[in-house]
Amino acid sequence: MTGETSEEHARCAEHPQDHAEVTCERCGNYACQECKRETKRGRHLCMKCYRRYLEIRRDHYRAEHRVQGLAVSFYLIAATWVFVVVSFARFIGRVDGVATWKLIAWLLPGLLLVMAGRGMARLDRRRRPLAILLAGLSLLLVPIGTLLGARILIVLAREPGRFVFSDDYAEVLAAVPDGEPEGRLRRVLFLAAVFSLGLYAVLYLVRYAP
Ligand SMILES: [Zn+2]
Ligand SMILES: [Zn+2]
Repeated sequence: MTGETSEEHARCAEHPQDHAEVTCERCGNYACQECKRETKRGRHLCMKCYRRYLEIRRDHYRAEHRVQGLAVSFYLIAATWVFVVVSFARFIGRVDGVATWKLIAWLLPGLLLVMAGRGMARLDRRRRPLAILLAGLSLLLVPIGTLLGARILIVLAREPGRFVFSDDYAEVLAAVPDGEPEGRLRRVLFLAAVFSLGLYAVLYLVRYAP
């Protein structure tokens, strides 16, 4: 296994009286049973390095929340898109029959927008390219998509927004997987999704109800 000490007489850097169990894969120090920490990726760390990661994580909660909050913007753009497509389909009178699959195809970008939003809420860096692409395309959706898309691009382009998706920060997240309690954020995101869909449903009914 990685990080395990092969030396018989290695001693913990913090507790010289204790036998070392692992070598820290960040700083190379020995760590005893009590000091060793294992990251989600199976790397071994000493206590000092773990604390350092914890500190970095705490310093970036705000940046994390700012990026996670972008999910709300994506849900709003998705709702806007659904509204535009459904209104347009209604306008040309082709919601029924043969054209239904076309309508579904037009609604697919809405699904991608929701996926990008969920990726932001989870700080999933694999979704970052999708988020940037969709935010760029959203600029065309004047005016709501333009405003929200521009804001998303700005947050993702700035240093804190870039850092939370970096390789270095992935290490931090693996070492300190539990961040601030996110129950509240999750509720806010869910309510935003429900609210935006509800809002557009009402707008649609008001404009197009018979
Ligand atoms: Zn270390
Ligand atoms: Zn120790």
